[in-house]
Amino acid sequence: MIDLRSDTLTRPTAAMRRAMAEAEVGDDVFGEDPTVRTLEEETAELLGTEAAMYVPSGHMANQLGLYIATLSGQEVWAHEQHHLIGSEQAAAAVLSRVQPRLYSGDPWPSNTLLRDWYARAQGDVHHAEPGLVWSENTFSGLVVPLSEQRRVTAFARAHGMRSHLDGARLWNAAAALEVPHAQVAEGFDSVSVCFSKGLGAPVGSALAGDAETIRRARRGRKLLGGGMRQAGIIAAGALYALRHHRDRVVEDHARAATLAERISGLPGITARARTNMVLVETPAGEAEEYAKAFARHGIRALGSGDRVRLVVHLDITDRDVEEAARSITEAVTDLGCSPHSVVTSSV
Ligand SMILES: *Cc1c(COP(=O)(O)O)cnc(C)c1O
Repeated sequence: MIDLRSDTLTRPTAAMRRAMAEAEVGDDVFGEDPTVRTLEEETAELLGTEAAMYVPSGHMANQLGLYIATLSGQEVWAHEQHHLIGSEQAAAAVLSRVQPRLYSGDPWPSNTLLRDWYARAQGDVHHAEPGLVWSENTFSGLVVPLSEQRRVTAFARAHGMRSHLDGARLWNAAAALEVPHAQVAEGFDSVSVCFSKGLGAPVGSALAGDAETIRRARRGRKLLGGGMRQAGIIAAGALYALRHHRDRVVEDHARAATLAERISGLPGITARARTNMVLVETPAGEAEEYAKAFARHGIRALGSGDRVRLVVHLDITDRDVEEAARSITEAVTDLGCSPHSVVTSSV
């Protein structure tokens, strides 16, 4: 099986396991784990922030970013497909007691929309107060242009709102834009990054921001039960990934582009590469059917609605890409011959 369901599936490399086994550790709740501290310092330095904090998951990094930036009853402005909305249960409502205001379609909010939403809240007791503007980069593999991000963060600042970047795949965005990581993080009050996706570490994410933001986030992390003791053992994997796997994500992007190119001419589907992902558009409602057919040919992928997502990561080689392209070609050809698809395509 070639597993293209997610870039979270990577296993630690031998060198990473060695770094973990040999990590210097201490009690991180006392601030005494040297490996965690080094990871936090190097992350902050890369992102151009004063401080950063290691957390067990991207979910926790995001939720802490939201928790420290908002008051109960305020609004968080986000896209309906942001991870915050679709993949973190109702944590925003439960933990921060905020109300999401959602846009859809375009991947980032226009100035008209921002101004309209802000104007509505002014002087009208019916409406919730605007609190935080949420961004995500990459967003389903899509690189959000820095000019759009800057427009949104400038709006937030000018209107007394805060801003957060969900940068779980910020590494991919910076690589695709060919800019330093700090440029992607610039302008936001807080930024979350993930070590266990494209970078290939087994555990953890970080929240970055100014010293006061991170001081408050540390209190929040303890409140949620996220204070970890000899966390250097896992932080060492993240530190190894940060130092050694950051620049290689361009290889994933190149492999995704190759895979998309190999399968894009197949009948009934279109395939587009976006950073480390290939998005396959199927006939409406048939994505699950396609994902099942891919699995019968040895390729694991996630499909829903009219989209199958193939994610290239650290454990995927050039040979895997060639094999995946061949298997997907067979699967799509089989589907084309099956009674199911003949029926749907003739309707
Ligand atoms: C994976 C992901 C997260 C959070 O990941 P965890 O699984 O909680 O570590 C947050 N945002 C985005 C965009 C993600 O893809």
